Amino acid sequence: MSARRDPAKEPMMELPVLDGQEDPGGKILPGKDESPRKIRARLSKTMLKTIGSHQLVEERDRILVAVSGGKDSYTLLDLLHEARRKSPVEYELIAVHLDQGQPGYDGGALSAWLEEFGVPWEVIAEDTYSAVLELTEKDSSTYCGPCSRLRRGILYTAAERLSCNKLALGHHRDDALETLLLNLFYAGRLQAMPARYRTVDGRFEVIRPLIECAETDITAHSEARNYPIIPCNLCGSQDKLKRVEVARLLAELEENNPGLRQVMLSAIGNVRPSHLLDREVAEAWDEAAGRYKPRR
Ligand code: SF4
Repeated sequence: MSARRDPAKEPMMELPVLDGQEDPGGKILPGKDESPRKIRARLSKTMLKTIGSHQLVEERDRILVAVSGGKDSYTLLDLLHEARRKSPVEYELIAVHLDQGQPGYDGGALSAWLEEFGVPWEVIAEDTYSAVLELTEKDSSTYCGPCSRLRRGILYTAAERLSCNKLALGHHRDDALETLLLNLFYAGRLQAMPARYRTVDGRFEVIRPLIECAETDITAHSEARNYPIIPCNLCGSQDKLKRVEVARLLAELEENNPGLRQVMLSAIGNVRPSHLLDREVAEAWDEAAGRYKPRR
């Protein structure tokens, strides 16, 4: 008997704000007339909506949460942990951080935070830094691609060892939109980031519960929570320049068209397969269209 729930029939889980996080000292976040409490509530609500509509979390899931030490993954772990306490669905979380052997890395504050936080956790030390340098020396490719692949492989191995069936990553709305534009401008592909997918070898599902959350909210939340951040670019990689460019472009467009990112997010969830030039997609849609309501 499947324990899967139909999210459309489930009431939305209401998340309380963590004790002690209620707008500490009445602090108003920079540039916003909103309290940390309100921002956290919005992040939680958005995350739960994504979890419900994409069925990201199911009964008896054992979820490895990849904690990179950046604001996104701290926020993800924090909100998932809070949601778990109120959830009618039973699931477990295990936080895993990878020490990649980068120069200047210091994971002491992160380990202390995880210890205090109260979710089972572990730090895996693997020198991917040297491995990436070696790999890129041979074929002069850029750092981030091989680094991400190595990191993902290590996390999959950890997920198997820890008997996890899912991996949760902290990608958010702005990551998805930047990826969409990067693929559109530089790869000739119409592709963003899914909320959920199965790994090629079929072993795990990868989920992105924050994929509809705004980065500005995550940044403000992270500052209010004072997470001990570890920067990703300790390796000195310049690979992210194109991503920075498209992020800047999105910011400029948003400045002149408030709400533009949210409209773009709606667009990637509201596709007209018949109005693109991909014949395979159009054919597949033709065959399947009878199963869905007409799209307007
Ligand atoms: S910036 Fe450095 S650590 Fe981060 S993904 Fe790229 S290569 Fe890896």
